[in-house]
Amino acid sequence: MGTKNLKFNSKTIHGGQQPDEAYGAVMPPIYQTSTYAQSTPGGHKGYAYSRSANPTRTALENSLASIENGEFGLAFASGLAAIDAVMKLLSPGDEVLATNDIYGGSYRLFKRVFENYGIVFHFVDMENPERITEHINTKTKLLWLETPTNPMMNIVDIKAVAQIAKKHQLLVAVDNTFATPYLQLPLDLGADIIMHSATKYLGGHSDVVVGALVVKDKALADRLYFIQNASGAVCGPMDSFLVLRGIKTLHVRMQRHCENGKAIAEYLAKHPKIDKVYWPGFENHPNHSVAKTQMKDFGGMISFVPKGGDYQTSIKMVERLNIFTLAESLGGVESLVGHPASMSHSGIPKEERVKAGVVDALIRLSVGIEDQADLIADLEQAIQ
Ligand SMILES: *Cc1c(COP(=O)(O)O)cnc(C)c1O
Repeated sequence: MGTKNLKFNSKTIHGGQQPDEAYGAVMPPIYQTSTYAQSTPGGHKGYAYSRSANPTRTALENSLASIENGEFGLAFASGLAAIDAVMKLLSPGDEVLATNDIYGGSYRLFKRVFENYGIVFHFVDMENPERITEHINTKTKLLWLETPTNPMMNIVDIKAVAQIAKKHQLLVAVDNTFATPYLQLPLDLGADIIMHSATKYLGGHSDVVVGALVVKDKALADRLYFIQNASGAVCGPMDSFLVLRGIKTLHVRMQRHCENGKAIAEYLAKHPKIDKVYWPGFENHPNHSVAKTQMKDFGGMISFVPKGGDYQTSIKMVERLNIFTLAESLGGVESLVGHPASMSHSGIPKEERVKAGVVDALIRLSVGIEDQADLIADLEQAIQ
C-alpha cells in the first residue's frame, strides 16, 4: 500500500507501514536482537547488526519520515543524541546561529561540548528574521531553530528564515518537538532537517526517551546515517515500538491538547492574580500572524507569571498543584508543571536566562488531555 498521499490523520497510523512479512502482524514485532544469521558472509536480508539497522527501528524511521513529509527518518537514543548527530556534520571553525530562547539541554550540548571541538555558536533573536543576516559570515553553516520556543513560546517564521538560509547556502534544522507535525511541517516550509525529542508528544505517554531526525535530501540522509552508525546512539527496538504506538494516536491527542491549552490560556489571561501569559494563540502575541500561517493550531504548552510573583511564590504554587504533576518533560497525556528557573533552564546563566524572558517567577505548563474543568479547578486552588 502506498501511503504518500494519505492525509495526516491516516499517516500517523499507516504512513510507511505494512503488516509484518513473516506472520502478518499488524504492529511491527519488537525485534529484540543484536545480530542476524547470514547464509554466507554478507548474505543477509538487509540487517547485519542492530546498531546499523533493526527492523523495529526501521518501522519507526519510516513512520517518522511519513508524518513529517520527509523521505528519510533516523531514530536515536534521545533527542539530544539526535542533535549531537546533526552537530557532527560540522567541522572546527564552523559557526551555528541558534534561536536565543532554546531548550536548556541543547544550549548545554552546544556550549559545553561542541564549543570544545571548535564549533562556534551564536544565540540570536530570530523573531525578526532580518536580524539573522547581521550574524551570517563565511563560516556560518547551520541555523538551529526552535518554534514555538521553550519556554517563552516565541514564534520564528520558518519560511522566511529558510529563504535567507538558501541565499547563503546554509542548512536549516528545526526542533519540532513542541509543535509536532500535527501543527507544523517545517520541511514543507523549506527546512532541511527536522529534529524531535520523541520523548515528548510523539511518544506521548511519558514512558520512553527517544530522539529523531527527518530529512528529504538523500546525500544529507547518507551523511547522517553514517554518523548514526559510527557514533552509535541508536534507539532500541522496545523504545522504537513504544514511539510507533504513540504516533498512532498523535492526531487525536494533539487535538485535545490544543482544546485544553486554549481553555487554560484564556482562563489564566483573565485571572486577576496572573500578570503575563505566553501562548501563541493570543491575538496580541507578537508573532500571532506567523503562528497562524505556519501552524494548524496553537498547542498545549503555556508559560505564565503570577502577579508580583518571585522565585519562592512560584515554587509554592507549583508545589500546591495536584493534577498537574511537578516534573521535567512535557507532551504526555498527563498535565505537567515546571519551574524553568530552577528546573529545565537552571543550566543557563541567570543574566542570559532573564534576558530571554525566563524570569524567576515563570511557570510552564504542559497541558494534558484530562478533563478541562478538573485542570482549571486545580490551577484555581493553587493560585488562590
Ligand atoms: C526534551 C527536549 C529536547 C531533548 O530531548 P531528550 O529526548 O530529552 O534528549 C530537545 N528539545 C526540546 C524542545 C525538548 O523539549
